[in-house]
Amino acid sequence: MPGSMSAAGRRVVVVTLDACDRDLVLDWARAGELPEFAALLGQSARAFMCAPRAFYVGGVWPSFATATSAATHGFVAFRQLVPGTYREPLCPAESMSGDPFWEHLARAGRRVAVVDVPRIRVSRDLNGIHLADWGNHDPVHPLPVSWPPPLAAEIERRYGRSPVGDCDLVDHSARGLSHLCDALAARIETKTAIGLDLFAREPWDLFTLGFSESHCVGHQCWHLHDPGHARFDPAVLASSGDPILRVYRALDTALGRIVTAAANDTHVCVVLSHGMGSHYDAAHLLDAVLVRLDGQTPTPAARLFHRINKVWKRLPPGVHRLLPSLDRSAKHRIRAELLEADRRARRFFPVTNSETHPGIRINLRGREPAGRVEPGAEFDAVCREIREELLALVDAERGTPVVRAVLDRRELCDGPRADVLPDLAIDWIRTAPVHAVRSPRVGTVRGQYHGIRSGDHRPGGMFMVRGPGIAPGQIEREIEILDVAPTVCAIFGSPLPGAEGHPLDELWQGARVRA
Ligand SMILES: [Zn+2]
Ligand SMILES: [Zn+2]
Repeated sequence: MPGSMSAAGRRVVVVTLDACDRDLVLDWARAGELPEFAALLGQSARAFMCAPRAFYVGGVWPSFATATSAATHGFVAFRQLVPGTYREPLCPAESMSGDPFWEHLARAGRRVAVVDVPRIRVSRDLNGIHLADWGNHDPVHPLPVSWPPPLAAEIERRYGRSPVGDCDLVDHSARGLSHLCDALAARIETKTAIGLDLFAREPWDLFTLGFSESHCVGHQCWHLHDPGHARFDPAVLASSGDPILRVYRALDTALGRIVTAAANDTHVCVVLSHGMGSHYDAAHLLDAVLVRLDGQTPTPAARLFHRINKVWKRLPPGVHRLLPSLDRSAKHRIRAELLEADRRARRFFPVTNSETHPGIRINLRGREPAGRVEPGAEFDAVCREIREELLALVDAERGTPVVRAVLDRRELCDGPRADVLPDLAIDWIRTAPVHAVRSPRVGTVRGQYHGIRSGDHRPGGMFMVRGPGIAPGQIEREIEILDVAPTVCAIFGSPLPGAEGHPLDELWQGARVRA
């Protein structure tokens, strides 16, 4: 437990860096590119962190905030299956179960300020302030919202709107991506100013500030950073430099300004949620593979949906921007209508989770409205069959396997919201772009990846904490992101109820870390 100083006077600053890749940070800090990170690494106790397996792409921040697994908080994707139906409507921020740890601290009498932790609903009636989605990747609120409600408008009056829109709609020419990076740098600058302004307004017990630019630049510009990427262009790198390094440098400067603003007796925590690498997977071929495994032919409506979807994805982002902004929920309703009959007819079908870990739902009798698989032995046999057949898939051009593992939700996590999660999730081997897969039973399935993102997520993250009584050094074991909130609450001497993670007790027992 925390050392001798009274927990009553403790103050904690938490900086969250969304999908900021820890290997890049460590390499660049060592190379002298990120001096603030390097300084903080030297002063902090730090631990490598694994994001929640299979559900981290959409679920890592809810898991961070609530210290619970996806099966407990139930919020893992932008659209999710409604149990008892075949529909996957857009999933609002309010569908997360459980309370973020700052609400617990606020109820315990602490004054808290929270700015832009991604994918978390705004905390109303908070003893403090919460500004949500002023500038995040994939915001869960259509416009910035706040507690107290007038704060968001006040911040917009003073600092304007976020200079970055939906990063998936940017023009992917060298010029377009360079504009994106300018906008991301501007967003970091303004976010820092907002953060420092709010930080100075009162002596907060807990102050949490989130940056999301590492997320956007990783998805959109990975091919300009990684010489091994299929779309890498040395000319662009030579003329405008590595866009990812540029954004990480701006984050480094921001981090330095925030750390400087925090007094020496303040605990400073930095959370790197998950990482980034090449967007190589066969998610775009999965539905066709599953249809063949199931021995089905798609319904005419499903074929229509896949045709529309393919055309839609091939349109350049400029056209997406120009088209009348089709109401997003209407788009998802049309999708649901077209896919419903197809799903009813199948033994299993893909459900939204992420391209990193696509989900598969078994059409289970008693759970799904037109269930075709009996619970128990038949369910297990179908899961086994899918696992064996997907593991048998190879890249048709290289002859190498494309699936590392087929994960069973029951072996990953369990909780009251488990019914919204897929039954199975695929873990790809992501070494090269996949244009065709084959196996003895499936035959060959071909198709190009038409998405524009060149980077996609990796599960590794990192946690750093600096403060009174905490010895710097690397914690030997890998921790979970579920451990971070209980650790922050432990600094306040205020155990977090319902947490599925555990405080890092070794922080206060210096012997277990090495410098
Ligand atoms: Zn992402
Ligand atoms: Zn983005």
